[in-house]
Amino acid sequence: MKFRIWSVLCLILTPLLRAQSAPPSLVLEGTVTSAQDKTYLDVPFQVPDGIHRISVDFSYTGHEQHTTIDLGIADPYRFRGASGGNKSHFTISEADATPSYLPGEIPPGRWKLLLSVPNIRTGVLAHYHAEIRFNDPAEDHSFASQPLAHGQRWYRGDLHVHTAHSDGSCISQTGTRVPCPVFLTVQAAATRNLDFIAVSDHNTTSQFDSLRELQPYFDKVLLIPAREITTFWGHLNVLGTTQFIDYRTQNLNGRDINALLQDVRSNGAIASINHGDAPSGESCMGCGWTPPSEVDMSLFTGIEVINGGSMLFSSANLWDKQIAAGHHLTAIGGSDNHNALIPPGQPGAIGRPTTVVAAEELSVPALLNAIRQGRVFIDLTSSHDKLLDMEASTGSSHARMGEDLTASNGMPVQINMHVAACTGTQVHLLIDGQESPTLAPIDIAGSDETLHAQWLASSGRHWLRPEVRDAQGQLLLLGNPIYINFPSRQQPQ
Ligand SMILES: [Zn+2]
Ligand SMILES: [Zn+2]
Repeated sequence: MKFRIWSVLCLILTPLLRAQSAPPSLVLEGTVTSAQDKTYLDVPFQVPDGIHRISVDFSYTGHEQHTTIDLGIADPYRFRGASGGNKSHFTISEADATPSYLPGEIPPGRWKLLLSVPNIRTGVLAHYHAEIRFNDPAEDHSFASQPLAHGQRWYRGDLHVHTAHSDGSCISQTGTRVPCPVFLTVQAAATRNLDFIAVSDHNTTSQFDSLRELQPYFDKVLLIPAREITTFWGHLNVLGTTQFIDYRTQNLNGRDINALLQDVRSNGAIASINHGDAPSGESCMGCGWTPPSEVDMSLFTGIEVINGGSMLFSSANLWDKQIAAGHHLTAIGGSDNHNALIPPGQPGAIGRPTTVVAAEELSVPALLNAIRQGRVFIDLTSSHDKLLDMEASTGSSHARMGEDLTASNGMPVQINMHVAACTGTQVHLLIDGQESPTLAPIDIAGSDETLHAQWLASSGRHWLRPEVRDAQGQLLLLGNPIYINFPSRQQPQ
């Protein structure tokens, strides 16, 4: 049979770094005829320098006539996967790829879509359309193609866990301690009804490929791309990018932690200091925050004030010290789980503590924005229903928890706190990190209460933050501050 390819290639170069809904970087279109039944068809396209991710959307006409065009892809040197007729979208990056595809370097040069035509009837024409996006930021930031839930509410999750991709381990079928698979971690989050989890293995990005596979199945648990950057002088979580970030500071062409933090920011991600008040030494190397040179703390977004570990460890000293220095740093929590099989509620279990975030929807960008804004409290009890929020106002200024308020000397500040599922406990209001005789603890009598307090502002910078404690003084919930008379925060996206 005479073989003819009636393929029309249409290349449209558009600006890079568009959101997934933005125009594609390239469009490849063509026509397949019945002469190509049971043949293979390569559709070449050019990948420029500087590309770290390729995403493809593929469609064709003629399904109703049982036309079938299967899909695969090759880079200039090797086969990079095939999904037949089972996926119309895929993405490939250095660290992660849609199942059926191989992650790895994206070399510039001549790539090919590998089309197979198992069936096209005599006399039928089919038109295919492939949209190719380079460096799609939506796929760098998230494994989910759309929000997993819509609407403003409090979303609960764990921002710090480890798996087989670093030092997470658990007991195997035969009773051997083995690297603990990512699946068990995500499943534990799902069975605990968490809305999100950040798998933050040490320094590596190898966990992302598993997460890319798991996200479609676990479509009620948002999987946040994360890693725990582990330096010799402190640990920090990076949340919100799949891009590699060099964790090696000092002695590396003068690269210091500020350069690392700039990398985090330029990738649209946020950074948070982990367990900063922990001691450092041979028992836990680099665990405390002891940077050898000055760090621009405005490059951080958060501090892990409550770390799960073998006990709930607080780093409120470091947090208050940084706030006193004028920084807005959102308190978050993380279990630091290293074994997905630890039962719920036990020390170090996934979800203990829970970080609770008031976000517009359940998506990575919305959660990161809410953390930047400080709309967060930490639930040390891992409950599904406890709530702590606060607002304050003066005559002309109003702020919610995490926001800025202006109050001049002597001005009364009205404070309203909303607490739920905390009956029989007390809310404590701390000024500048300390209890104040002018702000006595308030009893919480009902299951859903709005409580009121008043504070007379004094001049200068202050921060006001709420805590809920039980009758024994045990910390249950920790809220973020309202920042009074602070310099406006830097909030680059
Ligand atoms: Zn750590
Ligand atoms: Zn850790």
